[in-house]
Amino acid sequence: MLRHKLIMLLSLFAALALSACGQGNTPSVTKAVAKPAQTYNWKLVTTWPPNFPIFQEGVERFARDVKTMSNGRLNIKVYAGGELVPPLQAFDAVSQGTVEMSHGAAYYWAGKIPAGQFFTAVPFGLNAQGMNAWLYAGGGLELWRELYKPYNLVPFPMGNTGVQMGGWFNKKIDSIADLKGLKMRIPGLGGKVFAKAGGTPVLMAGGEIYTALDRGTIDATEWVGPFHDERLGLYRAAKYYYYPGWQEPGPVLELNVNAKAWASLSPDLQKAIENAAAASNGWMLAQFEAKNLEALAKLKNEHHVQVYPFPDDVIAELRKLSREVLEEEAAKDVDFKRIYEAYKTFAANNDSWNELSEAAYAKARKQ
Ligand code: CA
Repeated sequence: MLRHKLIMLLSLFAALALSACGQGNTPSVTKAVAKPAQTYNWKLVTTWPPNFPIFQEGVERFARDVKTMSNGRLNIKVYAGGELVPPLQAFDAVSQGTVEMSHGAAYYWAGKIPAGQFFTAVPFGLNAQGMNAWLYAGGGLELWRELYKPYNLVPFPMGNTGVQMGGWFNKKIDSIADLKGLKMRIPGLGGKVFAKAGGTPVLMAGGEIYTALDRGTIDATEWVGPFHDERLGLYRAAKYYYYPGWQEPGPVLELNVNAKAWASLSPDLQKAIENAAAASNGWMLAQFEAKNLEALAKLKNEHHVQVYPFPDDVIAELRKLSREVLEEEAAKDVDFKRIYEAYKTFAANNDSWNELSEAAYAKARKQ
């Protein structure tokens, strides 16, 4: 009996000593035993092929960051497109709660939500810096969240390619008439503009592009930029590489979180997701900025690709057609119209500021 009391007393001293030192979460003997922190095991499906550089890498990086920041309480297992659900069902899988998260681009769901395209890219619209400004500081993210609310989704910007390239052609483009009759893989609003210019836009996933171009099923394609285009081997199927990518001047990639799953998290875990997504957003853009030029040099020097700017009058015509497409789409869809108005105002202000900041500086550096 005495021995039992002695052991109790020693345990009490040990517990007090530990809690006095502030070591770990040892429950104080004077308080109720704290519940162990809940651990979450989530699934994230992407729309990208396995090991797809920068995009899939950026998502893996996000999952590792969240695990570290949550001290292992939020574990996110990443699945590439098709591993768990087909790539273009990622949106529905998160919306319905089959998985907690997805990564892709809002314009993939244009058939369901046309207005979502503003949160990826608009032809002749904002570049990456402008999109970050609109989304993080100009009210864009609030509009995006409102648009996705009926689908039980909380979206976050997570990745950007920067200005893309205009695409690969099997002939020179000297005038807008040269686009007439061409079949080109070009998605989204850019595709609608291309159709107005007399071309036929074709939709196909990245994995099918090379074969289609090589066999002549399509005459032209846009994909991303030198880094990804070189890896896809597009230079073997077409020799003329045009810039700039007027159709996708700074496309944003999206992280979607199921709204119910999001609401179940404590504020610290929500913050870990928000900050890790912002970190990956910057990381992906930096990767493109650092790697594209090196890939372009390889395309020119090793693969003898001919790189040209679109002629000024072709750009002017495509810009005019882009405005027409945006106005027409706005007349068809009330959400599109509402978000277009907000986007247009922000973009006009951003252009004015850009003229005497980034654009003026870029010009000054060359003089
Ligand atoms: Ca593209």
